[in-house]
Amino acid sequence: MAGILFTSASWGNFGLRIGDDESDVLARRKALEESISIGNIVFMNQTHSNEVVLTDGRSSVVDADAIVTSSKGVGLSVLVGDCVPILIRSSTSVAAIHAGRIGMTNGIIGKTVELMKSLGAQNLEAIMGPSICADCYEVSTQMYADVVRDFPHAATSVARHGLDLQSEIGHQLSHEGVEVFNLGICTLEYSEYFSHRRSQRTGSAEGRQIGVIWL
Ligand SMILES: [Zn+2]
Repeated sequence: MAGILFTSASWGNFGLRIGDDESDVLARRKALEESISIGNIVFMNQTHSNEVVLTDGRSSVVDADAIVTSSKGVGLSVLVGDCVPILIRSSTSVAAIHAGRIGMTNGIIGKTVELMKSLGAQNLEAIMGPSICADCYEVSTQMYADVVRDFPHAATSVARHGLDLQSEIGHQLSHEGVEVFNLGICTLEYSEYFSHRRSQRTGSAEGRQIGVIWL
């Protein structure tokens, strides 16, 4: 049975190499697979690339920032701690995308949707999960100018120089004909979620939550 879920900090950290014990993380991943009764959850080694991988679930870790499957019972996961987790569903394939500032600008969203369409997917719906909001994502004035020149939907105001990742990503998805649902939860403002930027500011433990989707 198809489904989606987003974890919060109380589920624990699902990211490797960010200070948590690796065996604890792997055990947590395994326990989640068992609790949602699907065969396998595929994780990504995310590098802010535009690499999209079609998976049948046989590899539990792939080097990519987006994964697509048309196999039933294969969970696709995306790790985030402020970046935008995007889960896309259709009746025949699903996708998980890691999209932060770089992913928003490198074409990975369009590339993923095109792959789903090439597999015959129709009536695509995307769910954007917990991620940092425009008010909390202030960047340097130079970076702000560089990004909004090419991606105007990310603009807030020159005075605030905050980037609106959710708005630009929502625009890109809509442009591809995908219906968009945004949970509208800011990771930095809500301590129920891990936030990379909050951890940097306060020294609190780093962690990554995940979004998972399966057919
Ligand atoms: Zn916020």
